[in-house]
Amino acid sequence: MKITDVEVILLTKELSAPLRNAKQAPRRRVAALVRLHTDDGISGLGESWCDPEQAQAIILGRLRPLLLGEDPFNVERIWRRAFDGSAMYDPKGAFVAGLSGVDLACWDIMGKALGQPVCKLIGGLCRDRIPAYASDLHWQEDPVAMARDAARFVENGFKLVKTHLGCEPEDDVRRVRALREAIGPDVGLMVDINTGFDRPTATRFGRRISEFDIYWYEEPLSPVDVDGLAVVRAATGLPIATGENEYTRYGFRHLFECGGVDVAMPDIARAGGITEMKKICAVAEAFGVPVSPHNYSSGVCSAATLQVMAATPSTGPLEWDTVDASIVDELFVEPPHVRDGYVSVPQLPGLGVELTNEVRAKYGA
Ligand SMILES: [Mg+2]
Repeated sequence: MKITDVEVILLTKELSAPLRNAKQAPRRRVAALVRLHTDDGISGLGESWCDPEQAQAIILGRLRPLLLGEDPFNVERIWRRAFDGSAMYDPKGAFVAGLSGVDLACWDIMGKALGQPVCKLIGGLCRDRIPAYASDLHWQEDPVAMARDAARFVENGFKLVKTHLGCEPEDDVRRVRALREAIGPDVGLMVDINTGFDRPTATRFGRRISEFDIYWYEEPLSPVDVDGLAVVRAATGLPIATGENEYTRYGFRHLFECGGVDVAMPDIARAGGITEMKKICAVAEAFGVPVSPHNYSSGVCSAATLQVMAATPSTGPLEWDTVDASIVDELFVEPPHVRDGYVSVPQLPGLGVELTNEVRAKYGA
């Protein structure tokens, strides 16, 4: 089998209200999808999580020449050739995200060609449903409105709820209090700062919220201040989660060596694809760090994340968009069931995703 063509499809979904966190307030969700075509008629879908125009330029300009004529089953060779060719200048960032999308599409093709879900090719179906957390609680002015949303996630069966805070560090403690009261003592509450604090602010805020039984304190610092995570952890006593801005097994090894990470959060559409995600999980396991993959883009990223988590028992929980702010269900051939805080693993060949003409017309440029 040979790759005959490479396509990038950019999708945009406008939102009714901005999704506000400590660093940004996007009014639209975007996705850069990769489609690889082969000479025997099978095509595969992937996704690159970075600036969509950058992904497009990298995939079509730099990766396409390496891919044409290659067998998608030689995914390790494809990955290695692309990464080695860029490692001097682009060992992280948009290039690796572009490669991630290509990697996902190769695995989708392999699964389709063999008539098997991707999980069966990378370790097998260790579990057919994955524990998940609700990941849609963005910062709002009114703590009561946030508390109402959090309570609804719990009513819908989630045992874990994450919120984005840090827009008003001196005032956000009352939002944490309102959320804890709304969800009760038995539901886990994660607090995500989206890299918005410096060390003193992260320490002061973390100490103030520690009385509310915080499940994890996510990305309190800039992604370049990896040494600071251990400082914040020691000063607050809170478990630290981070990694959505990190790349490859090499980046995660360094992160773990710095000693401030309790939960690793690689993104499969960014950190290197399925091929690299399995290696990151192995490195994390050797360091005794659980992996809770970052999963906040389209249904293609969600589908790939589910397949890896099904085959990798040391991972969890799964980040899940419960309000469909992005384009998730419409990209699945059969959307997964979400019940009692678990998301089912689709068992169709490949990743179980498709890009219909209807969806393309609805969200495409
Ligand atoms: Mg996050």
